[in-house]
Amino acid sequence: MLDWPEDDAPIIAQAQGCKLIDTQGRSYIDGVSSLWANVHGHRHPLIDRAIKEQLDRVAHSTLLGLSNVPSIELAQKLIDVAPPGLTRVFYSDSGSTAMEVALKIAFSYFVNIDQPQRNVFVRFDGAYHGDTLGAVGLGAIDAFHELYRPLLFDAPVAQYPFCYRCPRGLKRESCDMQCLESLQSVLDQHKGTVAAVAIEPLVQGAAGLRVAPAGFLTQVARLTREAGALLICDEVATGFGRTGAMFACEHENVSPDIMALAKGISGGYLPLAATLTSEPVFEAFLGDEGAPRTFFHGHTYTGNPLACAAALASLEVFDSEQVIARLKPKVELFAELLQGFYEHRIVGDVRHIGLMAGIELEPAQRLGTQSPARRVILEARKLGAILRPLGEVLVLMPPLAIDQTELRALVRIARRALSTVEEQGV
Ligand code: PLP
Repeated sequence: MLDWPEDDAPIIAQAQGCKLIDTQGRSYIDGVSSLWANVHGHRHPLIDRAIKEQLDRVAHSTLLGLSNVPSIELAQKLIDVAPPGLTRVFYSDSGSTAMEVALKIAFSYFVNIDQPQRNVFVRFDGAYHGDTLGAVGLGAIDAFHELYRPLLFDAPVAQYPFCYRCPRGLKRESCDMQCLESLQSVLDQHKGTVAAVAIEPLVQGAAGLRVAPAGFLTQVARLTREAGALLICDEVATGFGRTGAMFACEHENVSPDIMALAKGISGGYLPLAATLTSEPVFEAFLGDEGAPRTFFHGHTYTGNPLACAAALASLEVFDSEQVIARLKPKVELFAELLQGFYEHRIVGDVRHIGLMAGIELEPAQRLGTQSPARRVILEARKLGAILRPLGEVLVLMPPLAIDQTELRALVRIARRALSTVEEQGV
C-alpha cells in the first residue's frame, strides 16, 4: 500500500486485439490477459455484437423463480464442451463464488444423502481458489490467507508437487510422485469424513504457476474416489484453452464431480461463473414435498443475460476459429522462446503449460535486493507490455488470440526488462 500511490499505473482507455491503450495513447501487450480472463482478444467483433444485440433484448433479469434465454442456451453449450459426466450448471459471478458454490454443494450433498459426518475438505499446499471466506478456507498461500485463519474452517493440507523446490529433495525426472503419499495420509487420517478434495488441475496459478507432473491429477482423482469423497476441480484459471486443451482435466481424461469455471468463460468480457456438477450430485438436491432440499445460494446477477450472451459468442469463436486446434504451434513457439529465460543469471526456474508461464527469479534475499520481479514488470511496462509478478515469479499469460509476432514481442520485452534489471544490479 505504501508503494501504490507512487506507482504511476497506466489508466486503460481502450483496447484492440491483444493490446491495451492508456489515456496517454501508449499501447501495451496484454501479457496477462487482463488477469487471466481475456481469450480471443479485446473487442472481438462477434462477442461485441452478441452483447450489443442482447442489450436490445434485455440486460438483466433474475434467475430466482425465472430463467432467461442466453443462460439456458449457455448451460447446454457448457455441458457439451465439459468433461463427460458433468450435466448440471449453477451460475454465479466470479471464480471465488464458483468455488464457494462448489464447497457448499459438496457439503450439502453429503447432508442430503445422510452422510453429514463427511464434512472435511482437503486443500493443497499453495492452493488459491479466490478471496471469499469459503474459497480462502480452501486456499493455502500464507501471504493471502494466513491472516484470516481464525475465521476459517479447519481443512487438512496435502502436498501439491513443487518440483523446483521439492521438499523431499527429489527430481522430477526420476521421482515416483511421492508427494501423493501426503494426500493418501490425509485421506487415511480423516477416513470416512472427507467430503471433497479441491484441486487446481495440472497447474496452481497463484502459487506461481506450479505445474504438476503428468499423471498427478489422475492419481489424485483415484485416491479421492477410493476415499468416497467428491473431486472438485477449480478450472477458473485453466479453463477455456489456457493449458492448450479446452479444460486442464482433459489432458488426463479426468471428470470431476464438481467443476468451477469463471475468468475465460465470457471470453474475459463480463463477470460470469459457473459451477458444474454430475447428475448424482444434482439428484441429491431434489428432495420431496415433505423434505425440500433447496440449495440456498443465489446472487443478484446470477445468469446475467449480457454475460451469458458474451459467453455463448466466445464458445462460437472457439468453434468458428478453431481456437484449440490453432493453439498448438503457438504453444510450441512459446515453449521454445521461454527456454531463453534460462540465459538470465537471476532466473531460477521456467515453468509453463499451454500459454501459461511462470519465470521464477532467485529469491530476493539471495539477491540482496527488494523484489526484482516488481522491478522487471515496471521495466516491461516502459517497453510496452503488461506483466504481473506473483512474489518473485513473473507471469506471462497472453490471450489465446495472440499471434506469433506478438508472442515473440512479449517474450522479447520481458527478457529485455530482465536484462535491464540485471544490469542495474540486483
Ligand atoms: N480459482 C483460481 C484457480 C484462480 O486462479 C482464481 C483467481 O485468480 C480464482 C479461483 C478466483 O477468481 P475470481 O478472481 O474471479 O474471484
